[in-house]
Amino acid sequence: MPYQDPGRPEGERTQDLLSRMTLEEKVGQMMQLEGRGDRLSELIQGRHVGSILHTGPDDLPRALTMAVEETRLGIPLIVGDDCIHGYSFWPGATIFPSQLGMAVSWDPEKVRQAARVTAEEVSATGVHWTFSPVLCIGRDTRWGRVDETFGEDPLLIGDLASAMVKGYQGGARAGQPLPKDAIMACAKHFAGYSETQGGRDASEADLSHRKLMSWFLPPFERVAREGCGSFMLGYEAIDGTPVTFNRWLLDEVLRGQWGYKGMLVTDWDNVGRSVWEQHIEPDYTRAAADAVKAGNDLMMTTPQFYEGALEAVRTGLLEEGQLDQAVGRILAVKFRLGLFEDPRLPDRERIARVIGCEEHRRANLELTRESVVLLRNNGSLPLKTSTSGRLALVGPLADEAQGQLGDWAGASGQVAWMRQGQPREMITTVRDGLASLLPEGWQVDYAKGADIITMVEDPAGPTFPDGQPRPKIAQSAPTDQAQLDQAVQAARRADAVVAVVGDLVQLVGEGRSTATLELMGGQKDLIRSLVAVCREEGKPLCLVLMSSKPLVLPAEADLADSLIWAPSPGMEGGRAIAEVILGLTEPSGRLPISMPRHVGQLPVYYNRIRGQHGSRYADLTQDPAFVFGQGLSYTTFEYGQPTIDGGSGPFTPDQVIHVSVPLTNTGDRPGVEVVQAYVKDLVTSVTWAERELKAYRRVGLKPGQTVQVHLDIPVSACSIVDASARRVVEDGEFDLLIGHSSREEDLQAVRFSVTGADTI
Ligand code: BGC
Repeated sequence: MPYQDPGRPEGERTQDLLSRMTLEEKVGQMMQLEGRGDRLSELIQGRHVGSILHTGPDDLPRALTMAVEETRLGIPLIVGDDCIHGYSFWPGATIFPSQLGMAVSWDPEKVRQAARVTAEEVSATGVHWTFSPVLCIGRDTRWGRVDETFGEDPLLIGDLASAMVKGYQGGARAGQPLPKDAIMACAKHFAGYSETQGGRDASEADLSHRKLMSWFLPPFERVAREGCGSFMLGYEAIDGTPVTFNRWLLDEVLRGQWGYKGMLVTDWDNVGRSVWEQHIEPDYTRAAADAVKAGNDLMMTTPQFYEGALEAVRTGLLEEGQLDQAVGRILAVKFRLGLFEDPRLPDRERIARVIGCEEHRRANLELTRESVVLLRNNGSLPLKTSTSGRLALVGPLADEAQGQLGDWAGASGQVAWMRQGQPREMITTVRDGLASLLPEGWQVDYAKGADIITMVEDPAGPTFPDGQPRPKIAQSAPTDQAQLDQAVQAARRADAVVAVVGDLVQLVGEGRSTATLELMGGQKDLIRSLVAVCREEGKPLCLVLMSSKPLVLPAEADLADSLIWAPSPGMEGGRAIAEVILGLTEPSGRLPISMPRHVGQLPVYYNRIRGQHGSRYADLTQDPAFVFGQGLSYTTFEYGQPTIDGGSGPFTPDQVIHVSVPLTNTGDRPGVEVVQAYVKDLVTSVTWAERELKAYRRVGLKPGQTVQVHLDIPVSACSIVDASARRVVEDGEFDLLIGHSSREEDLQAVRFSVTGADTI
């Protein structure tokens, strides 16, 4: 039949296949359901589903074969899963740092490589499509999914997301075939899902079109134009309309202005939630009709869509032709993946060769080394290890192998077949790392020191209204005096102390936002006791925060000699952290997100709109503990005066500003500086951010070396969004600010002007 002929153009194949499909087959093709083994025949043969997700390795081959060999038209399945920092749910896969951890690197190329590794591993297993990357902006860090974001800045998010999409898709752009070792990417959650109220997951988002256009949409626009194969729609409603039904976002902006031709998938039961949770649809028939009319292609886990859509056609709410566009786009993706010719079954030989292989482990380690940020150091790091000694390694995260992988990994709870998590021997904890890297003559005394949480039943009952299990609630664990005493004794006996504190996966993820950002359980008491002992006895204390998101440390932590943050650092985390502590790796991470001093400072992101009375709270500074872009090295850097080619202008919007700045390594160790360039528009027609990141570069320098660092900033990027939500460049004066972080004191300014500006 023509649709089976790979020699024919894709459009012709799609039309032929559409003309042969029954209404039931079309409706089924628009559905994605959980492919559990006991239900495969019912889903694939009974309901003709076009896609499955969260299907265990044991069931996948049967599902793929059944679709092509035991259905009327043999339409292959597209299989999706959340492979968001490595193939989360494949035993033995390479697990990278969380997205937030990756963002600490400010290194798009390493992030591209991580996605490439993931694609090589995932594509061997029969999964074709990852629900990654996340392009949400991390602003209210009480939200439980901040770890899944690339932080708070739209430029950095766009760069890293673009790199990740290229890595997953093997460089294939919109509409191009995906190579065998590539998987389709999915930009999510479109758009504004992170703009929660009170950090509450999936709450209504208070977003104007201007705010969306200003910060939330630009990263999505970038990957849409670059050919990211699919977009996932967020859970939240904006101004009364859930994204699933938001014609402005889907039709006018995504499909219209950006010309996006890829596939749209809802998030988990978005269509059903409009009925049972948001109560804006009276029944599944109306919900199905509206979801189709709004331009959704694939409905994730709304089983009632089947009867709902059939009924909608029967009663005239929908015309069958209205399904064709969506089905056509789903089929186009299947042709793009070449699934009709090769349904991409698991490949045993490739699985054995690539998954968790040595080359992938090395790529992971290289990225993880850059995903560690040194935030404070009084010179006690790197640890002096010339003579022999004793190190006290304490804290509940020092040897918590599965915990350091973070969410969406192994035992994090989203799938049933990996309750034990990833193989322990593939994970290096800080304890493992220090034990193997400390020179001979050093001894490590380990003590856990504190528990973090105890889990109790949710008083609201064990399941949600849709039958999904309701997670237990985490309660702060009481301080255990015996555990604490052990850690303090270890500290007293030691020459130096490393304490690893943080959070656990039970405090992270969907429906797991936190009301506070404080360290839980006995951890605060542990820090206080260690600080007291180390000050009394004059020994160095290094605090390592290994947490999913920025947390607030107790005031006494300011007295620790050094502080490192490693957001959910993945399998190589312990080794990378140990290397930094011992000075075997120069710390080069920078914060992709601001760290507040107190939860009440939220939101505390650097690019807030200017204008307010005063600059402090009556009871606290508004200054965060650590700002966006901050991070130390073991050496020091000095910036000279930046200069712009062509002087101060005026420049026109079609020009690119070439700026250079002399940078010197003034210390006695090599180091990597992340040079950051911000732009401040002096006078804007509407209120705007004080400064925004426009360019950055990682630069490695030997001791004493000076280099000229060149950065390019298109004038068209020096834009604002006006009151009617149009992005414009405005005439006038601008400051280009270059330096070490987003903090004013760290930046050197050079002025330029723009003329002849117009809307872009
Ligand atoms: C999450 C998505 C995820 C999907 C499939 C949803 O609950 O919001 O990010 O991709 O589940 O697991």
